[in-house]
Amino acid sequence: MNEIGNKGEQASVAQLGLSNVDMAYWNLHPSELIEETIIRGEGFLTDVGALAIDTGEFTGRSPKDKFVVYDENTKDSVWWGDVNNRFESDKFDILHNRMLAYLGGKEIWVRDAYACADPQYRINIRVVNEFPWSNLFSYNLFLRPTAEEIKTFAPDWTIINAPGFKADPKIDGTRQHNFAIINFTKKIILIGGTGYTGEIKKSIFTVLNYILPHHHKVLSMHCSANIGKEGDTAIFFGLSGTGKTTLSADPLRKLIGDDEHGWSDKGVFNFEGGCYAKCVDLTAEKEPQIFNAIRFGSLLENIGCYEGTTTVDYSDISRTENTRVSYPAQYIDNAVTPAVGDMPKNIFFLTCDAFGVLPPISKLTTGQAMYHFISGYTAKVAGTEMGITEPTTTFSACFGKAFLPLHPTKYAELLGEKLKKHKVNVWLLNTGWVGGSYGVGSRIKLSYTRALITAALTGKFDAAEFGTSRNFSLAFPKACEGVPAELLDPRNSWADKNAYDDKARNLAEQFNKNFAQYASAANEEILSAAPSVEATA
Ligand code: ATP
Ligand code: MN
Repeated sequence: MNEIGNKGEQASVAQLGLSNVDMAYWNLHPSELIEETIIRGEGFLTDVGALAIDTGEFTGRSPKDKFVVYDENTKDSVWWGDVNNRFESDKFDILHNRMLAYLGGKEIWVRDAYACADPQYRINIRVVNEFPWSNLFSYNLFLRPTAEEIKTFAPDWTIINAPGFKADPKIDGTRQHNFAIINFTKKIILIGGTGYTGEIKKSIFTVLNYILPHHHKVLSMHCSANIGKEGDTAIFFGLSGTGKTTLSADPLRKLIGDDEHGWSDKGVFNFEGGCYAKCVDLTAEKEPQIFNAIRFGSLLENIGCYEGTTTVDYSDISRTENTRVSYPAQYIDNAVTPAVGDMPKNIFFLTCDAFGVLPPISKLTTGQAMYHFISGYTAKVAGTEMGITEPTTTFSACFGKAFLPLHPTKYAELLGEKLKKHKVNVWLLNTGWVGGSYGVGSRIKLSYTRALITAALTGKFDAAEFGTSRNFSLAFPKACEGVPAELLDPRNSWADKNAYDDKARNLAEQFNKNFAQYASAANEEILSAAPSVEATA
């Protein structure tokens, strides 16, 4: 067997059961991975030098094909159900062996990396990729050990990532041919049948969402984070597409990270070493930092180019709406290394309310903060189907239910303790619709959302006059520099007030219906923050 590249003297893929591979390339430099991807015909360089690839059949995560191995360790701790589908441990071993056999005779790419910028919680990860571009993703997204550290690197967790391996549900016990399976006892993750790179990062996020709260009482969070000039940390929770990555890239503030963080007794730390930004409709004017991060070393996924050129057309969503780019965090000018910050001073809950009911910004009481954290609301606009204009609600507990191996109340309890202990302002930001629902109103301008965040962070709302929204009783400031005042009161921004009242009531009902499943675990303070479904203000 051949193994080349930068690896520890003791390290060998034979330890992973891969002694029969054709060649194992260890910790290659991004330029080598890029070159190899192009030689294999799996990608090309765009005019700015970024590598563009297609992830294949899957261009997004597949939550129904995510499993956790059920065993002594996990049976009483994991929150079993649709989020954490149960996988039998003997089936896991069979599938694991079948994947190792599949990789036999092939070239593989190995990456030594780690997660958690706080050394106290660091976990070492060894990723085995079937494709060189997936290995580049692993390099970009995880934290990168030095050449010296690689010499003695010992993995805690191993990821086997084989997009070309297709499971047979009859033999393997999977739902279909693709899968992402976490084994907490063996500390092995198997990802197969899908080339979507996001599965790699989100599997480790899921692992940390178990280890940190369960063993260390550290709150793990689906949020972005940055630091102001005074050293003040802000975090931005939100579901996909609500603005975590976009809004955390702020020229006035230093970036900690764009997606996954821990909150310990010392402060906030990033789990990752890179960012994974959405590319749809990206422009240099609206999102200069992200736009400029797309260069040599960055990995573009599923994008299209203007005909006859290698210039990316960011409006091209013919392959998927979920076009993406990954790059090391340091590609954003003002990223901090190590990626840690003090205790958060401000927390933003981002929601893309396509119904246009919630105010662009409101300040939450502690009860409301807990209520909205447990609810985890956002909305999805209608797909491409003709004539369908009604958005749908999504409620995803802790703004990241899909990644929670423990029951949501575990995370809520930790957040509650932290909110009580530290003086934190909690804001709800509607990065979605104003002036009417989807189809009537429009998405609030990014520049307005940024102005609202800056005002909140610089204390501009401390002495502001606040109004109260209907049904939800949200306290919104009546004025903010750089934002038209009529937009701040959502009802006011609608031409048809009756239509607003109907929508607000309807949304309140949906909140209540969703919250019913958590009501027994909530105290009086949280329950009293539920929206009212009464017709009058
Ligand atoms: P994921 O968890 O999938 O990474 P995310 O929360 O990081 O999602 P972003 O990548 O920041 O989401 O996506 C927000 C998208 O919405 C971007 O494409 C951004 O340009 C667009 N957008 C439009 N208007 C706004 C606004 N007012 N605030 C935030 N984002 C906006
Ligand atoms: Mn993001």
